[in-house]
Amino acid sequence: MAQPVKNATADDLTVLDIESSAQPPVESSIPEVKPISKSAGGAKAALVAAKFAWDEMGVVRGTRTLLQLNQKGGIDCPGCAWPEPDGERSHFEFCEEGAKHVADEATRKRVTPEFFAKYTVADLSQQSDLWLNQQGRITHPMVLRAGADHYEAIEWDNAFALIANELHALASPDEAIFYTSGRTSNEAAFLYQLFVRQFGTNNMPDCSNMCHESSGTGMKETLGFGKGTVTLEDFDHCDAIFIVGQNPGTNHPRMLTTLLEAKRRGCKIVHVNPLPETGTTRFKHPQEFWTWLGGGTQLADLFMQVRINGDVALLKGIMKEVLDAEERRPGGILDHQFINKYTTGFSEFKEALSRVRVGDILEQSGMTKTKIEDAAKIFIKSERVIFCWAMGLTQHKNAVANIQEIVNLMMLRGQLGKPGAGLCPVRGHSNVQGDRTMGIWEQPSEDFLDKLGAEFNFEPPRHHGYDTVHAIKAMHEGQARVFFALGGNFLSATPDTEYTAAALRRCRLTVQVSTKMNRAHLITGKQALILPCLGRTEVDVQASGEQFVTTENSMAVVEAWQGRLAPASDALLSEPGIVAGLAKAVLGKRSTIDWAALVSNYDLIRDAIEHVVPGFENYNRRVRQSGGFYLPNPIRERNFNTNAGLAHFTVHPLPRIELKPGEFLMMTMRSHDQFNTTIYGLDDRYRGIRNGRRVVFLNPDDIRASGLASGARVDLFSLYDGEERVARDFTIVPYSIPRRCAATYFPEANVLVPVNHFADKSHTPASKSVVISIRTSEENGPD
Ligand code: SF4
Repeated sequence: MAQPVKNATADDLTVLDIESSAQPPVESSIPEVKPISKSAGGAKAALVAAKFAWDEMGVVRGTRTLLQLNQKGGIDCPGCAWPEPDGERSHFEFCEEGAKHVADEATRKRVTPEFFAKYTVADLSQQSDLWLNQQGRITHPMVLRAGADHYEAIEWDNAFALIANELHALASPDEAIFYTSGRTSNEAAFLYQLFVRQFGTNNMPDCSNMCHESSGTGMKETLGFGKGTVTLEDFDHCDAIFIVGQNPGTNHPRMLTTLLEAKRRGCKIVHVNPLPETGTTRFKHPQEFWTWLGGGTQLADLFMQVRINGDVALLKGIMKEVLDAEERRPGGILDHQFINKYTTGFSEFKEALSRVRVGDILEQSGMTKTKIEDAAKIFIKSERVIFCWAMGLTQHKNAVANIQEIVNLMMLRGQLGKPGAGLCPVRGHSNVQGDRTMGIWEQPSEDFLDKLGAEFNFEPPRHHGYDTVHAIKAMHEGQARVFFALGGNFLSATPDTEYTAAALRRCRLTVQVSTKMNRAHLITGKQALILPCLGRTEVDVQASGEQFVTTENSMAVVEAWQGRLAPASDALLSEPGIVAGLAKAVLGKRSTIDWAALVSNYDLIRDAIEHVVPGFENYNRRVRQSGGFYLPNPIRERNFNTNAGLAHFTVHPLPRIELKPGEFLMMTMRSHDQFNTTIYGLDDRYRGIRNGRRVVFLNPDDIRASGLASGARVDLFSLYDGEERVARDFTIVPYSIPRRCAATYFPEANVLVPVNHFADKSHTPASKSVVISIRTSEENGPD
């Protein structure tokens, strides 16, 4: 029974005396530089996976769980969105990272109310992200009351009532923000957006805003469709695969198996990246134990070590080569039939490209003419080409242009809408694509809102809401006062850590739906809630019995999954259950929806999805088929849903990377012991780093030229709009990286990414092109 909850008045709400630390503390250990692993996968990956799983889950439970992972009807890996094979699946459909993700969730360790009684929030904030994550699964809903320094347990009904009170106290529904992470299932996401829109706002930022928003924006504008266009089967038929700004060895490891198979049948692989990455250099299939002793297979035929954000220049260089080849062999290189029938803007594009100087292309890309010619030759010789990419392209000011230059290049040879060819933005979180399909978007289409309103008999809000960057700014400026996150670690995933922390602290209430501890629980509004939910691995029982949930992978396959383990605590609710509880408490009689009925049987949620979201006809029947079903993909049929019904060639200026003396262009990236913001360990064996994360990778010549030294402890500064940001105590590591470029791990370096530095049109934070300077501690003087 819900207890009446006193709504705190403004006077009651005081911030904590001791402010919690928004940034992970500086490690006491000094990072060590070790030899870089020569190959990815192999025995080491298998051993690490087994050890991690067995340590966290126990041998029998761990082995049983891993054997269910990514199997048809089994447990969905909470990691990346790389798809599973449509047909036969082996017993080991997971990678080292997948084993870590599952073991991390299914750990036997627990974070109980006694744990929170032991530590103040400020104490916890002094612990590292690794330590926080290692404490285990949160067992009970917890509240941090205004002025309190400890979380304390709270009943679910009281937690929902507290949220309802705060939401009702807002001057407008638009003063609330409802964030979603890519872990959320289709069913939970659909229910959540329905609740949020019935509440009255479209303020639904999501993790997609921070990753592939630029891909969706770039593709939708030019092709009329914002998702990848290939299936896994296309990789069996392509002649060349270009992998740009992506590190599959760490971030999408089973993609390496697909690449290996392609390579073995003669497909050429080109890797474009500022850093050489172990996975694409050499790979040993972890299940082919007879290959473990050898050197592995070299996957990339051509490695192009592009300057950070030199991709537009490089792509223009390749396109110039293609057009030059056409000049030499008219009618023999370009796919004129495709260009004439399906596209518009070719002449303007060609004319603009002819004016770009080769010297500028070489300078901005950092590539030699020969390398660009080599890449162009592979592209031209290949009948069928697939382009894959990830955050290395999407997190720049000109990120949308990056994507659209790939579209330009591919259209020159009609590489869209034919088997074995197409575009493959590789998503990093298991259901980030599905959540968007379910309507988690701050800019919903009129068509979607019409159908949603008709299905549930209400008028959804029509004005667009805040994306992630603008949600942070709204909270900072006091225009948003309640923040609710369905999963994720908003503080650590977002840019400009101190600014975002200040934004969250200004809220009256922050709420995190979580499985494990993270820093977002420690940087809170004046009141905070932690709502613990079931994980992917756990049995979800509702009134009608055991439920399954569905997700959509990077290649638009919708598949059903079902947890098998006993829940970490009896007090957990499923994500749909949490949304339904919230909706009942917040909307009350305003909503005619029977939320309890929807949650009693997820088939009913899927029926509603079928009525609202295109492509989900016979959802409940088709998703019960082995392996699920594909959503429609118009590009595969060469249907371009733009105003003109044609795909657009586009023209983009060559981005100029101008650095003053002493400045570097920094990109943030993940280590191998990390999944998004979750830290599993302090090593990155694929880059030779042990026991530390506060490292800055620099070119050895730059280290010498700057008077710095390998191993020196330095502070990193970024200056943007007259404001200086600093990240302290990083160790210099000499590395193979282009001159004047630097690489660091996030979230440690997020503090340097200015909140106003984001991609044109997509608003994705430009975390991969931040201008920094580097100073040793002595230069900085005492604090
Ligand atoms: S490739 Fe991605 S989805 Fe597959 S097991 Fe590894 S992390 Fe999980």
